[in-house]
Amino acid sequence: MKYLLKNKKNIIWLIFFVIIIVIFTSCQQQNDENIDLSKLPQENRTTFAMNTLIKMKAYGENAEEVVDKSFARLNEIEDEMSKTVKSSDIYKINQNPQQFIKVDNDTFTVIKKALEYAELTDGKFDPTIGSLVDLWGIGTEKARVPSEEEIIKTKKLVNYQWVRLDKNEKSVKILKPGMKLDLGAIAKGYAADEVRNIIQGYNIDSAYISLGGNVSVVGNKPDGSNWNVGIQDPRLNKAGAMASIGVKNKTIVTSGNYERYFKENGNIYHHIINPISGYPARSDVIGVTIVTLDSFDADALSTSVFILGLTEGMELIENTEGVEGIIINKDLELFLSSGIKDKVQILDSEFEINKSKF
Ligand code: ADP
Ligand code: MG
Repeated sequence: MKYLLKNKKNIIWLIFFVIIIVIFTSCQQQNDENIDLSKLPQENRTTFAMNTLIKMKAYGENAEEVVDKSFARLNEIEDEMSKTVKSSDIYKINQNPQQFIKVDNDTFTVIKKALEYAELTDGKFDPTIGSLVDLWGIGTEKARVPSEEEIIKTKKLVNYQWVRLDKNEKSVKILKPGMKLDLGAIAKGYAADEVRNIIQGYNIDSAYISLGGNVSVVGNKPDGSNWNVGIQDPRLNKAGAMASIGVKNKTIVTSGNYERYFKENGNIYHHIINPISGYPARSDVIGVTIVTLDSFDADALSTSVFILGLTEGMELIENTEGVEGIIINKDLELFLSSGIKDKVQILDSEFEINKSKF
């Protein structure tokens, strides 16, 4: 430094460099703060697929192409895993019990993961729930309360241990005639991750995808702030968010009894079935939100935790690495896992965070 300052020319250069650096950094800060979102290329679109409303936003060059590719991928996944599309892998498996059916890689991956969660939850999460789901018909015009005999008979067709996978041939077999695979609790999570992968392949660093209760955000919002994802009010017939959570690069997946249900004689019958009772899962829990990196796991976990209930459900969340969650009970209390306590904001004062139990 001493040597530098001795030389006048060097001093002038030094001042020049300092000025350039100051101008450069101040410009950058201004850019971040005053970014004009309306000038960024962006695509904001909705569609209906996988039995739910899909919303997607992407910012940056290629935003339109990314949304096109993502929606095409969602249709592809639906065609492979739908229970009702006659050419789907799941339809073929269900129609051909006791035979190995060759399936797409996607379907194989999802069935394999679903069976892992079935193992983990001792069969409370069970992808062979299909025949019970059909019996209840919740969310369809045929929804009804089945007779006790029907439930007892149909329950016997649900058992995740009666599925065989052939890893080399990528084929799947169900062992019992009448049993049916249903990937409704996990396929949307897989699809959300596939969309995220498409987005990341395009170098888009800000995007949002929502498949019903499955939300994934990529990067920050374009202005650099966190995405504020709303958590749907879990009370029946209540629209809108009752809390929000600030996140980046995360998935937020919610399961609740309000998604699909019907009422009869004052009872609520919803679409998450407890395979052990054969009836819609009953506990104090009315909503579960999982926050983690991969939607595939989050989707399976949100349904699992809903069935497990508050104590066992929170235990599962806390014991799974990288996973946080919110469980809401009938008294409108929110129970937060340990890593999420400072990230949740209540928007409706009828709800309250319960700090006592966990
Ligand atoms: P949503 O599909 O509304 O986002 P979930 O992810 O919680 O909600 O999945 C519910 C769906 O999962 C049901 O509609 C049904 O297809 C299926 N399902 C119901 N009960 C179970 C269960 N015990 N295990 C696995 N899947 C289930
Ligand atoms: Mg789910």
